[in-house]
Order: sequence, then C-alpha cells, then structure tokens
Amino acid sequence: MPDKPLDTEPSNFIKTIIETDLKANKNNGKVATRFPPEPNGYLHIGHAKSICLNFGLAKTYNGTCNLRFDDTNPDKENIEYVTSIKEDVQWLGFDWEDRQYYASDYFEKLYNFACDLVRSGKAYVCSLNQAEIRQYRGTLTEPGKESPYRSRSVDENLDLLERMRKGEFEEGEHVLRAKIDMAAPNIVMRDPTLYRIRKVKHHRTDDQWNIYPMYDFAHCISDALEGITHSICTLEFENNRELYHWILDQLEVPCHPQQIEFARLNLTYTILSKRKLIQLVTDQHVSGWDDPRMPTISGLRRRGYTPESIRQFCERIGVARRDSVVDIALLEYCIREHLNKIAPRFLAVIRPLKVIIVNYPKDQVEQMEAINNPEDAAMGKRQIPFSRELYIETDDFCEDPPKKYFRLAPGKEVRLRYGYYVTCVNVIKDPDTQAIQEIHCTYDPETRGGSSPDGRKVKGTIHWVSCAHAIDAEVRLYEQLFTEERPGEAASCKKLEDCINLKSCEILPNAKLEPAMKDTKTGDQFQFERLGYFCVDKDSSEDHLIINRTVTLRDTWAKIKKKQTKKAK
Ligand code: ATP
Ligand code: MG
Repeated sequence: MPDKPLDTEPSNFIKTIIETDLKANKNNGKVATRFPPEPNGYLHIGHAKSICLNFGLAKTYNGTCNLRFDDTNPDKENIEYVTSIKEDVQWLGFDWEDRQYYASDYFEKLYNFACDLVRSGKAYVCSLNQAEIRQYRGTLTEPGKESPYRSRSVDENLDLLERMRKGEFEEGEHVLRAKIDMAAPNIVMRDPTLYRIRKVKHHRTDDQWNIYPMYDFAHCISDALEGITHSICTLEFENNRELYHWILDQLEVPCHPQQIEFARLNLTYTILSKRKLIQLVTDQHVSGWDDPRMPTISGLRRRGYTPESIRQFCERIGVARRDSVVDIALLEYCIREHLNKIAPRFLAVIRPLKVIIVNYPKDQVEQMEAINNPEDAAMGKRQIPFSRELYIETDDFCEDPPKKYFRLAPGKEVRLRYGYYVTCVNVIKDPDTQAIQEIHCTYDPETRGGSSPDGRKVKGTIHWVSCAHAIDAEVRLYEQLFTEERPGEAASCKKLEDCINLKSCEILPNAKLEPAMKDTKTGDQFQFERLGYFCVDKDSSEDHLIINRTVTLRDTWAKIKKKQTKKAK
C-alpha cells in the first residue's frame, strides 16, 4: 500500500528551508528545534508526528531538540500530564538530554519583557471587559475600534500591570494588550491580549502569579530564550506568525527564530484533539487515556503498537503544508509490517469448539514441531502437544457449509496446522437447545506434519489447541472507536457520543492458548496464527491473562468499507 520505500528518508519543504539556511550559514549553521506540548492531556498520534518531525530534524542536521512544556494556562494543566508526556516521548525513542524546559521557568523574564513593551509604548493595560474587547475587534471586513484605554501613560500602565501582578484586581478587570493596529487586516494584530488575570494556582509556580501570559506572547519569547532556530508548528498558527515576529522585533531577545507551519495529522475514524479525548475519558466512553482504542501514544502502546511502527508511520505520511486526512489503515499497515518481522507465532483458539478425534489413542500425546517465525529462522522452533481432545475455532466449523467453504464440515477433511488431516464424522448437539457441543472426527495417522503419502489435496488448514494442555486467557478484540470516517465533522455526529462504535471492544473470556505461552508477561507481542497480532495487557495477573488484539492479519477494515460503499452505490 505505501508507495515510499522503507529505507530512504523522504525530503520535505521544511528540510528544504533548513538546508537553504545552512548553506547561507544562517544561525551560524545551527539547527535547534523544540517540541512544545501543553501539559493539559496525554499525547496522541498527531503529537507523534510533531515529535518525529522536530527530533528527527535535529538528528538529521546534527542539532538539538528541546522538550518544552508550554504551561501558561494553569486551569487545565497538571503534573500527571507532564509525567505521561515525558514517558511517551522517551518511549517513542527520542531524547531531550538535559534540555527540559517549562514556559513557567520564564514567567519572571516574560513579565520583564512585558514591562519593556509598556515602556516603549508598545503595550497598554486595557480595562474593557471580554465582550467589549470582542466587539471592538471588528470583523474580517470591518476594522476594529481603538480601546478608550489605549492612550494611558507609560507610568499608569506600569503601575496597573504591577498591581495586576500583585493580585489587586479581579479576573477580567484588566488585561495587558499589545498596541499594534486596530485596523490591521490580520485580526490577530488588532491589539492582541498579552496577559490576563487568573487567580488560580499553577502546578509549578503555585500562587506566585496572579497574571499569566498568553500563548502568543510566551511562545515566541520562550523560543528566542532557548536559541531555537526553526520554530515548527501546525497550520492553525499561520495567522499568528505576524504577531510572533512583531513581538520579537520589539524586544531585545537573544535571537529571532523562524516560525514554519505544517499540516497537522488527521486520521480517519479518529479524533485528535485533547479537548475531545478528555471528554471520552471523563464521560467514560473509554477506560482511560490509555484505553487500547484511544489514539493516544499510551493507548497505542497498550494496544501493542511499537515505537518503530509509529515512527515509520510518521515517516510515511510525510510533512506538507496542505491539510489532508490519512487512512487509519496506513497506521495498521505499519504495525503489521513491523510485528510480522519480530513477533513469534503461536496457536490460540479464541472462540473454542471441542473436537474429539475418536480413533486417536486416549492417553497419547505427541509433540509437533512448529516454526516460531517464518520471517526469521533465527527465532527457532518449538513443540506443540497434540492429543485426542482439541479446541478449534467455532468459526472453523460449519454444519451446512456454503460452496467454497474449505474448513471443517460434516464429511469434510481439513488439515490441522502442524498436525494431521481430520475428517468430521459426527456432530454432537444439546438435545434441548440443539446447540453444537462437540465435533467428532477421525484422523489419518499417515498425514502427520500435514501431507499425505497418497498426495490427496486438502484445501483448508485450521489451527487448534490441545484441551488438556491449554492455557486460559481473556482476549479483547478492538474495532475503531467511531462509526464515522470523520467523527466530529460528520452531520450524524453532532455530539461525539452520537458516533461512538458500541461494538468497539469485544471480550472473549474463554480463549485457549498453546502451552508454550505460559511465561508470557505484560507487553509481550505475538501473532496468533490466522487471527492477528496480539499483546499481553497490563491488567493481566498471574491467574488472569488478558490479551489485546493489536491488529488483524489482513486489512479487513478496508475490505469492509469497500463492500459498504459498493452496496451504497
Ligand atoms: P490538541 O488540538 O490535541 O489539543 P494542541 O495543538 O493544543 O493539540 P499541544 O500540546 O499544544 O496540543 O501540541 C504540541 C505540539 O504538537 C504543537 O506544536 C502542535 O502543533 C503539535 N500537534 C498537535 N496536534 C497535532 C497533530 N494532529 N498533528 C501534528 N502536530 C500536532
Ligand atoms: Mg496547543
């Protein structure tokens, strides 16, 4: 499916900009980037794109990438998010070394810069309220109106600002605004707010501050203080670029970084907005930020995604300046491709149906040799016990099979993987309910290992687990969390809960695993033959093994969609 080969690193427009800068010896040939998360939620796969981009550029050009917490909004931020963000960036394989920063480390400096702006007549304390400020701002087609407080003297402004800081005023009474141009075509430039009064505790500075800087003010100065050369952000900040540069132009800062915007990642059947992801958690549509159905890094990790697969995905989607929507099937392709190489294979039955091989000796057990990974001979072989009573997949038997059904059916012969050919001779049912209880088969002792001396053809091969040797487990199968390709945008999805897929987690409590899996532990990853790639969930305990399906073997989702669109036509 992907058209880009694995090992060549594709170029992008940001690399072109950086290479031009390097040639011109701009920034003394240095490249310094940063990843600036706001600690108000867990990171998601969209952030992974930004992380791979920023840390990746630093690596490519022998530069540095800082981790900076953009913690200027104390209401929604907390230490749990800081901790999870660090864990996720590390897990993805990136290292900020000793360059961990917080915008809150700069609060004092930022305040001093604000005073500088006031002194040079470039900022003023405005006492309009929120609604008035909005009203005065004008529209795309009409210029704004100047605030009556715009002509306050420098001294009055400095005094008011200091008293705002001290907590002498209530929230909303005053704000500090840049004095730019109320008729600017770019609305962002119409005297934007730089500071607001917020009387809340900050998770790092506690109650030291009664005023907090706005993103536009804090971000560019933080970049400059850290010596960032290329400040890479998503497209929605394109209009803010003018303000970014205006602020830095007014101040004596150590350097003047360049802001470059790129398109954020959008994924089908997925929501990538912390605000909405928080809603899923608080409304308990999912079990938490790391629910295996969540597009968070921690959810993907718990689901069984590897850092390599996510980095590979980010590489493949590339970096562009135009918004687009990436098919979730591409992310699944990437994990499938990685696990195919590294995951050992096992036999497991997730919806067990008992089979008795009536002509197989009662107490006999044979060890069958199985290949651990056909992609990697070095992973070796193992033994699987075969006996008279086996479990097969309920779906692998059909009493009244349609044409081209090559699995087990009355009178039909199939191959048991690594075992023998068996033929169904009887179906035992519950006399009351008529539900199938067990299947009786005979086996051909000449077919051990899966071929017959007479060369007769058997089309179907099914997997199995010996009843007496099986390990019990709970298996959880996942589907997309949303029923709409563009949740949040679809007309039928006004509220998020309108398009939540109620069948997105199916729990199978009676799965049976081959005994070689007895020592698996949390995080282990493997393929169950014919069923997909799986991993051990963190909620597993000694006596209750829980296994998540990471992804199916084939791209069933794309197929289902194709069928649906065909039907719709
Ligand atoms: P959200 O909309 O999910 O709340 P955000 O942009 O507010 O995201 P931040 O913590 O501010 O979240 O993001 C940190 C960095 O990650 C920013 O530089 C932001 O541009 C980038 N980022 C966030 N979402 C995406 C995305 N979907 N694709 C690419 N980059 C993203
Ligand atoms: Mg943000």
